[in-house]
Amino acid sequence: MNKTIILFAVLITACTNSPKVDQAVLSEVETYLEGYNKKYQELLIPSTEGAWKLNTYIQDGDTLTSKLAEEAEKAMVEFTGSAENITVANKYLERESELSPVQVRQLRAILYGAASSPAIAKEIVDQKIKAENAQTTALYGFKFNIDGQKVSTNDIDKILESSDDLTKRLSAWRASKEVGKELKGGLSILRDLRNQTVQALNFEDYFHYQVSDYGYSSDELVAVCRDMNKEIWPLYRELHTWARHELASKYEEEVPKYLPAHWLPNRWGQEWSSMVNVEGVDLDGELEKKGAEWVMTEGEKFWMSMGFDALPKSFYEKSSLYPLPADASYSKNNHASAWHMDNADDVRSLMSVEPNTRWWGTVLHELGHIYYYKTYSTSEVPIILRGGANRAYHEAMGTLIGMASMQQPFLEGVGLMPENTEVDETQALLKEALDYIVLIPWGAGVMTEFEHDLYSKNLPVDEFNKRWWELKKQYQGIVPPADRGEEYCDAASKTHINNDAAQYYDYAMSNILLFQFHDHIAKKILKQDPHKTNYYGSTETGDFMRALMKDGANCDWRDHLRTHLGSDMSAKAMVDYFSPLMVWLKEQNKGREHTLPATL
Ligand SMILES: [Zn+2]
Repeated sequence: MNKTIILFAVLITACTNSPKVDQAVLSEVETYLEGYNKKYQELLIPSTEGAWKLNTYIQDGDTLTSKLAEEAEKAMVEFTGSAENITVANKYLERESELSPVQVRQLRAILYGAASSPAIAKEIVDQKIKAENAQTTALYGFKFNIDGQKVSTNDIDKILESSDDLTKRLSAWRASKEVGKELKGGLSILRDLRNQTVQALNFEDYFHYQVSDYGYSSDELVAVCRDMNKEIWPLYRELHTWARHELASKYEEEVPKYLPAHWLPNRWGQEWSSMVNVEGVDLDGELEKKGAEWVMTEGEKFWMSMGFDALPKSFYEKSSLYPLPADASYSKNNHASAWHMDNADDVRSLMSVEPNTRWWGTVLHELGHIYYYKTYSTSEVPIILRGGANRAYHEAMGTLIGMASMQQPFLEGVGLMPENTEVDETQALLKEALDYIVLIPWGAGVMTEFEHDLYSKNLPVDEFNKRWWELKKQYQGIVPPADRGEEYCDAASKTHINNDAAQYYDYAMSNILLFQFHDHIAKKILKQDPHKTNYYGSTETGDFMRALMKDGANCDWRDHLRTHLGSDMSAKAMVDYFSPLMVWLKEQNKGREHTLPATL
């Protein structure tokens, strides 16, 4: 008996302080939670199986698969959103102080899950589902065209990534925004329905609902995002100045005060890394020689070298890892994803791995999710808390390994780069900054503040576009090629605004966190320069990552971060990492006008 209590205490001290415990209440709640977790897992399996089949085995005229998937999904939603679960979870939470922290977290998770489709607001939920489907259909069914010629978004992206012809670029950029007009009305309706749905469970609005997953109020989240932006601002300001001059010389134009949106290599200006080619690195060529299966198994070997288990046999049997043969009788979704089918042992990935740099990074990223799933699937973590410490943690794990896998000592070690290759380190760092840093003003600035205004401040529909461009200019220093009136809705041209709403700050936080993790691993564990690390074979690095992942969502991520890193979330590690680049940028920008203000 004593032993059990001691063990329990040891397990939770990493997360929280011990509460005062009333055994009778504890066991009553425990019985309810056990039942909930069991039922949840039972319903989860057919629901993920249905979705898996829908994504991996798409056959023309097959209506049965989607019908089965919908039924399984409906059964799940009826359970998680049921009035009974809402009542019981609320009732127990009234006695919060008598419960264990893990019980409290499960009860909160139950209410969080219920809020996405609560039975107590059935009519609103039905309308919301209908409106969401209509919005997705309008978004994915939209026919893009440039000057009357039908084009795909890939075609548009290719023009923006590589064309030097500004007229062509302008047409492509404009074409990419036409979809927003069609989506504007739907977005306004969805905003109201999303707010009303979660208000049935006492969340202030949909934005508040999403940020509550981090334990924040809306104002706290917005403040955290502003701090992130402030921390990286001096570096972003130098990148902005450099990019204005670089692009003006490329297009043979005068240097503009702000970046015209159609000058940038991305439809939203969220990622500029294709502006730079790093001399001396030919990863694509090396990977091509190795083949797709090498990319997959070498990714797994990297994780195993750090002390993680081999992937279960079922992973290779059940996953869909490679492109389908041209004569296949079915198709599949080509967007990479990692799946935790039963919140236990059944882990799978959907990819179309090819031997190139993009897929090398993607394989390591998806394996990050898979090893995260495996690490927290233990008896200590209840089924419904088998998720990341927060949503950003889950993204950070794989991106961290993907970033580490691009560093020279690692690449030399696995034979993807000849030893002692001369690499232009400044250009390599610049390329990384144009990805990781440039995302922050976009993700934690424009997207976050727009959706905060949209959901929490009821932004009037006739101000959607005005507000969007105010934020674009303020945070990214990007302006439209010409005035954009309210007939447009440029925000709605971004997928997430429509169907993955009010959580885009996840990506910015994930970038910030992964540099904190990397800094810790490089300096404290490997004792290597953060720019030149090699994680391969370091079981101590593996132990650190396992410690980060094993608690799942059992404890508050802020306590968790303090326990494992000894610090709060901060962009300092990221800014430090790019400090050599800052020196170089300042030199390049000497004598140039900085049009963004010195402080945000
Ligand atoms: Zn991911």
